[in-house]
Amino acid sequence: MQQAGTPLADYPHLYIGGQWVAPVDGEQVESIDPSNGRPWARVAFGGPGDIDAAVAAARAAFPAWSRRPGHERAALLRRLADACERAAPELARLETTDNGRALRETRADIGGHANAWHWYASLADKGSGRTIPIEDSVHAFTTRRPVGVVGAITPWNVPLMAALWKLGPALAAGCTVVLKPAEHTPVTSLELARLFHEAGFPPGVVNVVPGWGAGGAGERLATHPDVAKIAFTGEGETAKAILRAGADTLKRYTFELGGKAPHIVFDDADFDQAMNAATGSAWALCGQSCALGSRVLVQRPVYERAVEEFARRAARVRVGPPLHVESHMGPQAHAQQLAKTLSYVEAGVHEGAELVAGGRRITGGDYDGGYYMQPTVFARVDNRMRIAREEIFGPVAALIPFDEEEEAIALANDSSYGLAAGLWTRDVGRALRVSSRIEAGMVWVNTYRYIRWSTPYGGVKASGWGRENGLEALDAYLDVHTTIISKTGQFADPYAS
Ligand code: NAD
Repeated sequence: MQQAGTPLADYPHLYIGGQWVAPVDGEQVESIDPSNGRPWARVAFGGPGDIDAAVAAARAAFPAWSRRPGHERAALLRRLADACERAAPELARLETTDNGRALRETRADIGGHANAWHWYASLADKGSGRTIPIEDSVHAFTTRRPVGVVGAITPWNVPLMAALWKLGPALAAGCTVVLKPAEHTPVTSLELARLFHEAGFPPGVVNVVPGWGAGGAGERLATHPDVAKIAFTGEGETAKAILRAGADTLKRYTFELGGKAPHIVFDDADFDQAMNAATGSAWALCGQSCALGSRVLVQRPVYERAVEEFARRAARVRVGPPLHVESHMGPQAHAQQLAKTLSYVEAGVHEGAELVAGGRRITGGDYDGGYYMQPTVFARVDNRMRIAREEIFGPVAALIPFDEEEEAIALANDSSYGLAAGLWTRDVGRALRVSSRIEAGMVWVNTYRYIRWSTPYGGVKASGWGRENGLEALDAYLDVHTTIISKTGQFADPYAS
């Protein structure tokens, strides 16, 4: 935890064109440690002029990078992977300080990033096309080409992971990138830029410009005519603003947006395992992840038992300073997010749900000034309530009872979101029946939040467009180019007769 009077960590430069440069029209902004509400770092924020410079650098670097053989791009990505492996403990410490996520979580998450960079490296020479049989007289084939300069815009809950999921496939495909991290958590993206530099990436291939969103660096990136694609993770409303702002430039988009995932527990499930997953997923990342099972649908015969178990386990969660390894849960990442979570607790009580655990901000002693929140459980939730429909992004579980399988499916799908779902049952037929009818990009059966670089990740409905991770991630950064060659060279004169 930052002690009062400790000098601020200084990040005075942006990373543009392989150089560390001061902002031309930006400013220096303090980053807040959410465990105490005090500034802990001072960070350069770029403005529109800095984005223009970064896009120009990425554009200049694109021809050589895109033509570089895939195995050479792969070799650089592997060097980056090794650098990330060495830096992982320090990156975890910095990410925890900047966004408050418990160190035990950031260590586990960032400790796996090297594997993911290696996976993306392995894709760098896999962007192959196909031949298309038509008639003997022609040979038709496709090749795939990188789309161009990518603007990567990331959120504050998982800054490094969101950057990895975009930069990995983009660079493997041969695109160049301008990364704009969220204003609340810029530090680890600048650290990542340092690792790219050390790994020997050519100038301009990766550029990192922290800054504001609307009216600032983010908006300039979203409207820049030389940016071919925006890869965005964040809120749905921001995605719509980005789409509207970029309409005149007809970009490509991938959007990873919010979620309100149903986590369905049938009465034949292994109850203890289901509770491990359901309680873990309700409060991981202090509730600040799009894929968490925030709507827990429990079949009536085991519903009361589940309510008791949630309340019992909420009391066992060690909320505390996020850098202490014994803390399970740190603070919320910023003051507005804490206020938002508390307002949803009020809404839940007002709408008639039963608050059975938590619901309050934690203050006093080590907690003073920090944005700490109790793990919270609502029982007897109706799926029409706001706490069941809207993304809270806080450690709040809403337990909803159901009777029959059909009702569970209907409740699960009665949501504007469709990112993920979980279901617990010992009945294989039911697992297949239910999972095939859930409107979500990902369904986990008898497990939850099993997320790996090799499996496609993304949602349907208001949860987004496109997929990150998996082979599908590469497709999002490649255009298809069709070539048709006549084997005869004969072309009939259209005006001969
Ligand atoms: P946000 O939409 O407020 O901000 C995300 C990024 O967009 C930030 O970098 C911000 O500066 C930038 N931005 C804001 N306005 C902009 C504009 N007009 N033009 C260009 N850029 C702009 O989201 P957040 O609060 O940082 O993150 C929380 C949200 O992210 C939640 O809704 C969560 O569900 C979602 N999320 C989704 C996934 C997923 O994979 N589906 C993963 C993590 C987070």
